[in-house]
Amino acid sequence: MMQLFMPLNFLGFVYREIRGALANIERMFSLLDRVPMIEDKPSATSPSLTQGSLRFEHISFSYDGRKILDDVSFELPAGKKVAIVGDSGAGKSTIVKLLFRFYEAQSGHIYIDGEDITQLSQHALRQAIAIVPQDTVLFNDSLLENIRYGSPNATDEQVQGAIRMAHLAGFIAQLSDGWHTKVGERGLKLSGGEKQRVAIARAILKGSPLLVFDEATSSLDSHSEQAILTALKEMEKGHSSLVIAHRLSTVVDADQIIVLSQGKIVERGDHHSLLKAKGLYHKLWTVQHQY
Ligand code: ADP
Ligand code: MG
Repeated sequence: MMQLFMPLNFLGFVYREIRGALANIERMFSLLDRVPMIEDKPSATSPSLTQGSLRFEHISFSYDGRKILDDVSFELPAGKKVAIVGDSGAGKSTIVKLLFRFYEAQSGHIYIDGEDITQLSQHALRQAIAIVPQDTVLFNDSLLENIRYGSPNATDEQVQGAIRMAHLAGFIAQLSDGWHTKVGERGLKLSGGEKQRVAIARAILKGSPLLVFDEATSSLDSHSEQAILTALKEMEKGHSSLVIAHRLSTVVDADQIIVLSQGKIVERGDHHSLLKAKGLYHKLWTVQHQY
């Protein structure tokens, strides 16, 4: 009985693993540089996008007839920081997926530096945006190469600069092989916070004007959280930033916080005005700060 049961159980495990991997679209962001999504239009253009300003205009989007985003409009002016918060399932990741054109909205428009993203080449779009995904994929290679990934022409000095800005220098100094230390499946296992700082270093190195930070949902100890916050602040300098936040500590300094609920924007404002309004943001804040 046991003999029959175990392989079946194992197959179930493999199936769940594969299905989980496919379902987790967040992982696709790490494949972004290799997987073309929606084909370029013959008329697609590649203007140089240097400001990274972003505008969502009346975006509505449904999956299989179910409305996921309902008339979402917001603006991220060049050099500013906009945060999107809301319960799980509110539609935050969908906003990012539409920005990357994993899907096309049924109505509305998205503009980067005033250019409708559906008119842009994939190349121009990907050059304009650097993403720090929730779940960073590391390759079986050195830390150095893992950070250089995506900007293959970056010099060692440039990689070092990004490492310092991402506040990884102290961590790397403790490793016996320094930045030549192998990481990934067969190398050193990094914690969630360290992985996200590797992703921050990658994003800094890429030099795109628009940064998208999809904060990891897993809880971090306060030391890792502080390291991420400092690295994030460094990364935000001179960039336009869109932050998808789970922990509200990353949004307190945002120029505008957008509160999503069931695909609709229900509140917007800065941290203080939203706390005062005593609405959903206040509720989320209270839940996260009750201990
Ligand atoms: P959030 O990031 O705020 O947690 P998402 O944007 O991931 O929310 O999801 C919004 C809604 O869309 C959820 O109800 C989710 O179940 C649904 N959804 C997400 N991805 C898919 C998909 N590939 N197919 C169908 N529904 C999806
Ligand atoms: Mg999400």
